[in-house]
Amino acid sequence: MRVSEMFMATQREIPADAEIPSHQLMLRAGLIRKNASGIYSFMPMGFRSYKKVEKIIREEMDKAGAQELIMPALLTAETYQASGRWEKFGPEMFRLEDRSGRPFCLGPTHEEPFTEAVRDCIRSYKQLPVTLYQIQHKYRDEKRPRFGVIRAREFVMKDAYSFDCDEEGLDISYQKMYKAYRAIFDRLGLDYTIVDADSGAMGGSGSQEFMVKSPIGEDGICFCDECGYAANEEKAECMTPEQDTSAELPVEKIHTPGVKTIEELMAFMNAQPSEFVKTILYNIDGKIVAVMVRGDREINETKLGNLFDATEMNLAAFDDVERITGAAVGFAGPVGLKEKIEVIVDREVSVMKNFIVGACETDYHLKNVNIGRDFTPDRIEDVRTAVKGDKCPRCGKPLGTARGVEVGHIFKLGTKYSDALGCIYLDREGRSNPMVMGCYGIGVSRTLAAIIEQNHDDDGIKWPVVVAPYSVIVIPTKVNEEENMNLAEAIYKRLQDEGIEVMIDDRNERPGVKFKDADLIGIPMRITVGRRAGEGIVELKYRAGGAVEEVSLEEAVMAAKSLVRSAQ
Ligand SMILES: [Zn+2]
Repeated sequence: MRVSEMFMATQREIPADAEIPSHQLMLRAGLIRKNASGIYSFMPMGFRSYKKVEKIIREEMDKAGAQELIMPALLTAETYQASGRWEKFGPEMFRLEDRSGRPFCLGPTHEEPFTEAVRDCIRSYKQLPVTLYQIQHKYRDEKRPRFGVIRAREFVMKDAYSFDCDEEGLDISYQKMYKAYRAIFDRLGLDYTIVDADSGAMGGSGSQEFMVKSPIGEDGICFCDECGYAANEEKAECMTPEQDTSAELPVEKIHTPGVKTIEELMAFMNAQPSEFVKTILYNIDGKIVAVMVRGDREINETKLGNLFDATEMNLAAFDDVERITGAAVGFAGPVGLKEKIEVIVDREVSVMKNFIVGACETDYHLKNVNIGRDFTPDRIEDVRTAVKGDKCPRCGKPLGTARGVEVGHIFKLGTKYSDALGCIYLDREGRSNPMVMGCYGIGVSRTLAAIIEQNHDDDGIKWPVVVAPYSVIVIPTKVNEEENMNLAEAIYKRLQDEGIEVMIDDRNERPGVKFKDADLIGIPMRITVGRRAGEGIVELKYRAGGAVEEVSLEEAVMAAKSLVRSAQ
């Protein structure tokens, strides 16, 4: 490709709304273009890399025996009503109507249409198992789209669904996908961690996420270097610590006027956050419950939601809190509640002694509260989010934490969708059974961004060869000098003949401008035709690093060939 003819739109300035390197670089290098908030076009250069990611995914999925098809993105409401997700998706689903007022949506994920298709086509155990996949646009009306294609409202996903006779079959299908995913992310050169993920209360028996560690990640990961345990923080289990055996002290009621936050309370009472227990009221599907965690801990709403198999969960409304506690918001506690509600105590709190809680009376707290003596919890559960230094649930060593971007997710669904949609088969004895399903996603556009997050420097992208839009760029420094240009053209032609994806920057620009663009776009190898063109000598430089080498035309071609081979 000739740069002079290329539809390319690199930008010198960092766009103001681009907060992270991959988003900035994809815009600056002209790989993507923003159409609207969370909606992007892939421009020619970006689309080349995008297609390479897709190709690797497709090859590994096919190798694992999955069959590709394509479903519509425009789907009827009925498709999602039977599973209950027409309601459950809420405002995240893009909804629309056809000309006769019939409701439709833009598919946020495709469990239902795949289940319908298999239900309508498969009758017998003899036709199972089957794994189907597609690479397609998905639509979610994110509250806050950000990070470019990492959290977009329209994005490309590879989604696969497996259908088996039983759990044992699902285990095999799941393992095949697990292996395929490892092969995909290995080939893409990503440094990733496989973590145990939340599979929800309704979800089947297991779920794992493929995470790329990154400070901008929206997911927290807990991991143990000792035994290899790794889990999403939504899932990571918190163990019950040792029982505090201190003597129980008498309860004291303390006047704490205007003191509402833990910080204010700490200062006021000259105590550590670990001596407080906060009591938070939730409205879970219309029922108010109180949840108690240590003052410096976060309630894990995924764990909490799973306890109740919650559809909708929010903090309780102020008037509910005031009615139930008989106090202003900020003074809730387990003692003196005006209405009987379920009180859930975190495992960690269950072994504490003499802690401080809200007094259920405006401007008052209680000190030296103890479980059993002063109140009795309805349930003791694991409802907090694990933090750095917590004990590993497997081996007891301290956990580390990191942020991660989820690029893949594999999930044992069980019979949730087959039960809801009547996706059954007849077994050997002629009895009908629901098919046992798994689902498997990869964010295709997001994976491309994750690759950039892991492969860039201040000058631009450093593409791994497998996904680079072009492998080599030839830069003549003096396009008006015949000798210079002839050698550049000769190398360009040779590389094309060798089947190498090559660009030539034949623009009448200063070399510095061309170098800057080549670095920004991140082409893995740069061949510069400069002052020694007359001797047939060119300069070779790798975007990954290293010094400039002076080589002959043939040596440059050899180096390019071995670079491309190394990526296959
Ligand atoms: Zn461990």
